[in-house]
Amino acid sequence: MSETVRLALHDDIAVVTIDNPPVNALSPGVPEGILDGIRTALTEPAVKAIVVIGAGSTFIAGADIKEFGKVVSGSATPADLPAIICDIEDATKPVVMALHGTAFGGGLEVAMGGHYRVIAPTGKVGQPEVKIGLIPGAGGTQRLPRLAGFALAARMCALGEPIGASAALKAGLVDRIIEGDLLEGAIAFAREVALKPLLKTRDRIAEITEIDTEIFSELKAEIARTRRGQEAPLRALEAVHMAHHPFNEGCRAERELFHRCLHGTQSKALIHAFFGERTVAKIPDLPKETPTLEIRRAAVIGAGTMGGGIAMNYANAGLPVIVREASQNALERGMAVIRKNYLNSVKKGRFSQEEMDRRLALITPQLSWEGFAEADIVVEAAFENMALKKEIFTALDGVAKPDCILATNTSTLDIDEIASVTSRPEMVVGLHFFSPANVMRLLEIVRGKATSKTVIATSMALAKKLGKIGVLAGNCRGFIGNRMVHVYLREAQFLVEEGATVEDVNGALYDFGMAMGPLAMTDLAGIDVGWRIRQESKHLERPGVRRPLISDRLYEAGLWGQKTGAGFSKYDEQRHPSPDPEVFRLAEQVAQEAGIARRTVTREEILDRCIYALVNEGARIVEEGIALRAVDIDIVYLNGYGFPAWRGGPMFYADTVGLPEVLARIEEFANVHGSELWEPAPLLRRLAAKGGRFNA
Ligand code: NAD
Repeated sequence: MSETVRLALHDDIAVVTIDNPPVNALSPGVPEGILDGIRTALTEPAVKAIVVIGAGSTFIAGADIKEFGKVVSGSATPADLPAIICDIEDATKPVVMALHGTAFGGGLEVAMGGHYRVIAPTGKVGQPEVKIGLIPGAGGTQRLPRLAGFALAARMCALGEPIGASAALKAGLVDRIIEGDLLEGAIAFAREVALKPLLKTRDRIAEITEIDTEIFSELKAEIARTRRGQEAPLRALEAVHMAHHPFNEGCRAERELFHRCLHGTQSKALIHAFFGERTVAKIPDLPKETPTLEIRRAAVIGAGTMGGGIAMNYANAGLPVIVREASQNALERGMAVIRKNYLNSVKKGRFSQEEMDRRLALITPQLSWEGFAEADIVVEAAFENMALKKEIFTALDGVAKPDCILATNTSTLDIDEIASVTSRPEMVVGLHFFSPANVMRLLEIVRGKATSKTVIATSMALAKKLGKIGVLAGNCRGFIGNRMVHVYLREAQFLVEEGATVEDVNGALYDFGMAMGPLAMTDLAGIDVGWRIRQESKHLERPGVRRPLISDRLYEAGLWGQKTGAGFSKYDEQRHPSPDPEVFRLAEQVAQEAGIARRTVTREEILDRCIYALVNEGARIVEEGIALRAVDIDIVYLNGYGFPAWRGGPMFYADTVGLPEVLARIEEFANVHGSELWEPAPLLRRLAAKGGRFNA
């Protein structure tokens, strides 16, 4: 027996227990251990049937994802899971798989190798491999249709969404839901079936004789809509489609498709993102035992776009929150938006009306400072204006208790300058939520020079509590995300001034996989917002260095983006964009005045200029220590800026292109457009020279 699997006899039933904490992943030794356990049990004449169960909170939650990387690099040979599962299936006494927690991926594949499956009422089953760019590789795409039919199998394998116990029972994927003690119930079930003839899943064919092509075309359309650019969901469909062929043939095809995904870039990128989310929680100078403060009551200043969403975050996590506004009108407007958002969720069936009422009751709208003395954290989300923020922090310093965290949601301003007006700069931190704050998962936690470790540790813990991914950033203009987006949008606008159309620019980046094009993003955020920020930061403009002029012209022409029905594009009532000849004319005019030669701009140039601008600035950000690691930047871009997860983030993308090639292109841009804008980052030069990667 292996260290992670044990065998015990319960009279006439053998119980094989998988004990590989925390989630019984299929690490090396586990699949072999299960098979060993079953084989040993088969040699016991007294044993009539075998139950396989997981210790702790779950059955097998899936593969050991670290192993995939080792297999790809050749440093490990994978267990022959498909053969092991067939061997389990060949057992001459009934094998009952007892599922609880999550039986996902390889876990469900092992479970389907049993002759029967029972499940706890809260158990879930799924084939989520596509979420890391893979497909089931141990017969999942062939056994699932044989048990649950093509429609459900195709859906589960291609979209990766799990199903609960009752849906699994209804589909025939499990044989019984066990209320009460799972092991006891599974043993009783095993006795019931002990004498029945054995049916192997792979021998079932009745369920797969009919293949409904409509289901496959519908799923393809759904994948194109919701998983744009991703390969694995399509490969998963191909594999499931093979299930109407003989089992071995289907498995061969599945294996081939699995390996294609495993050795492709997309799975590497998605696995990078998967581990990245865990890495960003690790802050080198913040040991695990750093004390944290308890957050029981929160307050927010401002009930605008951001303040309202931030307040909803607290209420959603069950925390009472005060929202203070400057005027009754703004307060009512803000609360109306919150109510509307909650109502939408109720209409979509996300939660009940009672739940909405409960959440709303946690939010206290007011104009006064009442209750601020009891708040454990205040997040300021008033206008982006330094003088106003200083005024608010001076007032906060007077009303908040000494150990209250004073946070600002500023997108660009200097945290230290804001902290300087308080008597406790160690309690001041940037908590940069992203719009819409109740939806977006990213929270940039900005560390000022005095911010205490306790405040940072508490902010990281709070991010988790609010269901966000906290990424630590240093204090500089725009922190990680917006400092990089600044150069990205700069290039997008330059390209329009040089001759690309707005549609060329948006289209190229959308097709690259971005959630929306850069100019569409500007139209959504508001041209006026950018203009106001530029007015506040005129002192940062470098004389003689080119800056985009087109958005100033749009601002002056009242083309402020979606809110005015036109910006870089025109928008109809449904906010669908269409080209605006006026913008084309303004671009020509700007080019003429600034002496910019208009020319044909290729799609390749659009992509390289926008994406490599991100990469070059990202490299500086890592080098300056504003981001702890390149992966922190990737996580920011995947979760806050709509960068396609299957490309792994801008820094990972540069790694996949190859840093020497990225550097060469940046040097080209520096020659043509000036080194003030395109001087390659020293870190990029160094890594490119020694064949390194940002994400080593
Ligand atoms: P907004 O204009 O929608 O809301 C600001 C609100 O603050 C207004 O309702 C205003 O009445 C209120 N306010 C102003 N002074 C106040 C005071 N003294 N006391 C109480 N309330 C006051 O702005 P927003 O988009 O929510 O931005 C708020 C902050 O968040 C800014 O610092 C902005 O840079 C930052 N931010 C914005 C976004 C975004 O996409 N909108 C994203 C991240 C961060």
